[in-house]
Amino acid sequence: MKVSIIGTGYVGLVTGTCFAEVGHKVICVDCDDEKVKLLQQGGVPIYEPGLEELIQKNVASGGLTFTTSTREGVEKSDIIFIAVPTPPLPDGSVDLSFMEGVARDIASVMTSYKIVVDKSTVPVKTGDKVVETIRRYCKSQVEFDVVSNPEFLREGFAVGDFLKPDRVVVGVRSQRPVTAMREMYAPFNCPIIVTDINSAELIKHAANSFLALKISYINAISVLCEASGANVQEVANGIGMDHRIGRAFLDSSLGFGGSCFPKDLSAFIKISEKLGYDFALLKEVQCINARQMDRFFKKIVDTLWVLKDKKIGVLGLAFKQNTDDVRMSPAIELCQRLQKEGAILRVYDPKAMEKAKSLLQNVTYVADMNSVAEGCDALVVATEWPEFKKLDLERVRKVMTHPIMFDGRNLFDLEEMERLGFIYKSIGR
Ligand code: NAD
Repeated sequence: MKVSIIGTGYVGLVTGTCFAEVGHKVICVDCDDEKVKLLQQGGVPIYEPGLEELIQKNVASGGLTFTTSTREGVEKSDIIFIAVPTPPLPDGSVDLSFMEGVARDIASVMTSYKIVVDKSTVPVKTGDKVVETIRRYCKSQVEFDVVSNPEFLREGFAVGDFLKPDRVVVGVRSQRPVTAMREMYAPFNCPIIVTDINSAELIKHAANSFLALKISYINAISVLCEASGANVQEVANGIGMDHRIGRAFLDSSLGFGGSCFPKDLSAFIKISEKLGYDFALLKEVQCINARQMDRFFKKIVDTLWVLKDKKIGVLGLAFKQNTDDVRMSPAIELCQRLQKEGAILRVYDPKAMEKAKSLLQNVTYVADMNSVAEGCDALVVATEWPEFKKLDLERVRKVMTHPIMFDGRNLFDLEEMERLGFIYKSIGR
């Protein structure tokens, strides 16, 4: 099928590439000239495992192209996916100006029937507004359908998630676009759930809020574990093996971050408020998350006492493993708090250092993980990159001024760390 994706970011680029991979003809549109130029020249603006190879392959076969022209994307496609940002406003509600802008752009160049699919995460009832906007700004009486098709991919696993989705949700106002949407997703051999638009939009916020809730739940349990001498990993295994609960998202940490959970939670709380419901449960999820960072920071202060002029190594800047995304990263927040207290930071991340540079200045960016701890009074693990588990701990201990480690991701074995002579503080154990 001929499709265009408007917004070529983490979601749009993966969506476009994977659709091309299964045989659709895809045009990725973005208003960022430099990004499009980079992609046209064979570069990739984000790190996502497996993505670069797929882009190269599909560009070479002619199935994937890039442009800054929405007109070109719309004219040459039957289905137009929107994957632009939906960032938070200061009060936590969603800034829908990018969505509105794109709906207007599409309307102004549409001359034949199109299916306009919203892939961005939006508040329930946004679909109605998109319909109204397209009608208002379309010069001729062109027919169109608006569909909600929320995206569930995880950064760091985005290609795999997109190619093998648990389910695809398709929210529609009429049956007309359903066949085309089924055809789009047929190559993925996954369940397709067809709903009304409002339900589809609500599914996305409900899903992300539930996942955030699971993380805050285990983080709350970690507080009880620390207070009672229990081990949160054992508890997580014990409850997670119950299939009604599941083990995923039960890893205690210094809290969740990233460009989705924090904003989607705030958004869902605001959406609920507008619909007349006080979603106090989700407010507590936010509070637990904020307190988890505070508790971790306090552990550092309690151990090191004065942070001014203390040299601290930090492993991990991305908001989670396998990504270069530092938006709302707990690791960055932690670094900024340490810096505010006068700590001197040496930091390392396998993929996120370039992107971190705009948020984190006056730190030493170190080229390899085993050198971060050199001359440090303490080492902090802030992101769960799998390679950090392979840290040369003997060497790290030897090069540190004091062998103190704060592990915000519970990567290491308690007994092993004790045997190696570390003062080792992790979460919930
Ligand atoms: P992003 O910031 O990485 O990418 C958005 C892209 O849209 C940017 O390249 C930007 O230049 C472009 N853009 C903005 N306005 C445009 C316009 N008028 N025309 C063309 N391009 C335009 O954002 P993202 O992380 O891909 O998120 C996009 C949406 O998907 C958000 O609603 C987000 O909540 C949702 N989502 C994100 C993830 C994720 O893991 N990142 C997962 C599921 C859903």
